[in-house]
Amino acid sequence: MPPNYLYEIDTARLNLAYIYALIDPDSLQAHYVGMTESPSLRYRLHHSNASKRLYKSEKRELYLWFRSILENGSRPRMVVLAEVPLNRAKIEERYFIGKLRVAGEPIINRDKSIFEMRAIAKLMNGDCMSHDYIGSTTVLNWRCNANHYFSLTARRVLSGVWCPTCIKNIAMVRNQYVKDIYKENRSYLELEIPWVFRSL
Ligand SMILES: [Zn+2]
Repeated sequence: MPPNYLYEIDTARLNLAYIYALIDPDSLQAHYVGMTESPSLRYRLHHSNASKRLYKSEKRELYLWFRSILENGSRPRMVVLAEVPLNRAKIEERYFIGKLRVAGEPIINRDKSIFEMRAIAKLMNGDCMSHDYIGSTTVLNWRCNANHYFSLTARRVLSGVWCPTCIKNIAMVRNQYVKDIYKENRSYLELEIPWVFRSL
């Protein structure tokens, strides 16, 4: 170890990626979602691209917004939404874009909604079977990892609802478990305190 070093980099965290949002400092609304292995480096890149006007046409809207805030003497804020394994970062990024968009944030990432839906389904180890996304309240077709097919709106899925059959199965298993415990307890109690059960 060299003496007097400032701090050590945690190299175990180098396989993580960060999903971040750029936030308007006044309205506090999220305008852009991205992923990076190094948030501070990424921010500097956004900043210099916006001020030097170096951007591809698809990012134009992002940098016009970014620059307008810089020109007001302020700067966009950056928050980390999630730390995720590097190999899942793209999926998680689309997931957060969809989630924030449905929540009403003015997200300016390009709308790839059906891809967002597929990313969300993949996150649940399932699939989105629909080919077109019309809006958050339009019903889409899904498949869960137990191969059940069901229909739900994007809004419902983003609020955490998933396969109704799986939910029912979990509830049935739980009910059976409670019944089994009750039966077991009852036969025990019938031996211990039979007079209680005589009138039943
Ligand atoms: Zn299912």
